[in-house]
Amino acid sequence: MNKDKKEKTITLVGGGVMSLTLATLINEILPNLQINILERLSACGLESSDALNNAGTGHAGYCELNYTPADKTGNINIDRALEINQNFEASLIFWAYLNKKYPFFNTKKFIKKTPHISFVSGGKNISFLKKRFALLKKQPLFKEMIFTENPKIIEKWSSLLIHGRAEQENIAATKIDHGTDVNFGELTKQLLRVLKKNKKFKLYLDSETEDIKQTEDHKFKITFKNLKAGNKNILSSDHIFLGTGGRAIAMLQKMRLVEAKGYAGFPISGRWLVCDKVNLTKQHNAKVYTQVMDGAPPMSIPHLDLRVINNKRLLLFGPFAGFNLKLLKFGTIWDFPGSIKANNILPMLLVLFKNLSLLVYLIKQSFMNHHLRINELKNFFPLASPSDWRLLNAGQRVQIIKNCPFVGSKLEFGTEVIYTKNKKLAALIGASPGASVSVASMANVFENFFSKKDYQRLKKIIPSIGIDLNKHPTTLKKIRTKTYQSLGLW
Ligand SMILES: Cc1cc2nc3c(=O)[nH]c(=O)nc-3n(C[C@H](O)[C@H](O)[C@H](O)COP(=O)(O)OP(=O)(O)OC[C@H]3O[C@@H](n4cnc5c(N)ncnc54)[C@H](O)[C@@H]3O)c2cc1C
Repeated sequence: MNKDKKEKTITLVGGGVMSLTLATLINEILPNLQINILERLSACGLESSDALNNAGTGHAGYCELNYTPADKTGNINIDRALEINQNFEASLIFWAYLNKKYPFFNTKKFIKKTPHISFVSGGKNISFLKKRFALLKKQPLFKEMIFTENPKIIEKWSSLLIHGRAEQENIAATKIDHGTDVNFGELTKQLLRVLKKNKKFKLYLDSETEDIKQTEDHKFKITFKNLKAGNKNILSSDHIFLGTGGRAIAMLQKMRLVEAKGYAGFPISGRWLVCDKVNLTKQHNAKVYTQVMDGAPPMSIPHLDLRVINNKRLLLFGPFAGFNLKLLKFGTIWDFPGSIKANNILPMLLVLFKNLSLLVYLIKQSFMNHHLRINELKNFFPLASPSDWRLLNAGQRVQIIKNCPFVGSKLEFGTEVIYTKNKKLAALIGASPGASVSVASMANVFENFFSKKDYQRLKKIIPSIGIDLNKHPTTLKKIRTKTYQSLGLW
């Protein structure tokens, strides 16, 4: 049965990259569906998806050492890196498809080839990187990775990393040339342009969703307020996607969904050091990640990145974590207190108790001054000068706290989708690897919302879905050659 004929409306709450991606997937396969997007701000993509609110790393597992953790005996698990790499491949394929189909969809404006480097110092970290490299190099997905312990070679990759560094310091690095920097804010805008071509698409700006109720005819009644005019409106919808970023858990709680019971969210704000000095930006042409600091959460792994936004080169270093009570950058200080409920206060307290090192880390980070931040930067760029760098607020991250059977409460660092039992409502929670895997995450929502036949049609557009590319090197080569050439990555 083609559900397109039966199901007429889908409403996406939140106008970030996730909702826009899901809406575009639907638009390609089921253009006759009524697609509504409700966004509380006066434009889409201004929260976490905006260019400098995130790091813009096309997460593919190339340089992020937290995706290949080592256990106590030193064994490295590469499964997460393989999974994220394949999921990012789905994003690249979909963007290349849109690039070919729509003349105004210009991937050059939001995706830039930027080498991904992992850079470490000291015997223990070098031995980890060597082992990681040996494992990854054997994988078809990672076969272009190179490793060196030679400072002269690393200097060619980025002179900032080497100049001023003690000669006797042991260092090592790996590099993949076809890494990417992605401006997810620009991507969001371009997806919106695709959607606006469809007469059945409707965007409601300045429209904050206040309440969602399931009705007896198995639909949803959505109440939203126009924040400019002050009046309330109602929409009826067959499906709902909550792409409300940091507010997703709070919204699910408000709906009293059993599926959201025991979930909580803990806000962690982010800040970058930013530099636009041309003499420095031209010396660094990569995204360089290192090991996470002791006690820090995995998403706080420090990195020094070249960003190119609106043709302007910038260096970005961080993230520095902090604590404030907002669940969204443009939220209020009542967000977090309002999300504490009888069913999640215990998991939250248990998690804080189990992760005291995280708490200490957050307190230390919150009290850092400019001088201390520059000292951190000097681990990457020994000659960094405080006057070249300024502090910028990034987006707000909400760390998921989950009550798991047998394990108890724990912090989750992934990107997760919660569904209602009838699979008519889906909500995205969590941050990393986030926007990079938006296409794979949203294809999964598509599969749950629509018929098998429709999902098969989607797979024709994104042929990597459902295939383990690492186990099919010939297919991988074929797909990568076509996609990467069209995106200018090869
Ligand atoms: C510091 C930082 C660094 C990051 N780095 C990376 C990176 O390098 N690579 C990567 O892939 N990802 C990264 N991420 C994650 C990435 O930014 C997110 O995964 C992605 O932007 C999430 O998109 P979204 O659409 O779910 O949320 P958002 O972009 O936050 O959009 C949510 C939208 O919902 C709206 N909204 C909320 N409540 C309501 C309501 N009640 N009614 C109507 N609208 C509402 C908000 O106004 C907002 O526009 C990073 C995130 C942060 C914070």
